Amino acid sequence: MTYTMQRWTSQLSSILEIMYETEHFLSADQIYLKLAERDDSVGIATVYRNLKKLVDMGFISEVNWKDVRHYTKHPFSNAFFVCEKCGSMLRIDISLADQTYLSNEVGMRVNKWSMRFEGICTECEKCI
Ligand SMILES: [Zn+2]
Repeated sequence: MTYTMQRWTSQLSSILEIMYETEHFLSADQIYLKLAERDDSVGIATVYRNLKKLVDMGFISEVNWKDVRHYTKHPFSNAFFVCEKCGSMLRIDISLADQTYLSNEVGMRVNKWSMRFEGICTECEKCI
């Protein structure tokens, strides 16, 4: 299990939601337009900054397509943990073996999965 700690903001959360609602690739402009429907106070620079954060955190992937950067949710990192106290967010890499087990051993066809854990992070746990 690996993780990256990062401050979790509402813009970051909204962008991640948009990415997870979409199966295909989106450009920053397309993401910006979708985000503007929810929150018109967010500028394009914020969108770029948050997209870079999400790429660094491993939540989304970035590809160049026709000279424009496009983004899509990362297929294997749908699990994350949010600290109720400090709002930090941890990405959790759950083994793909779990999906393979369901497909091959149990016979279930997994098309999509997501997991959100909430609780107290290790840093906050030390302070209690
Ligand atoms: Zn915490």
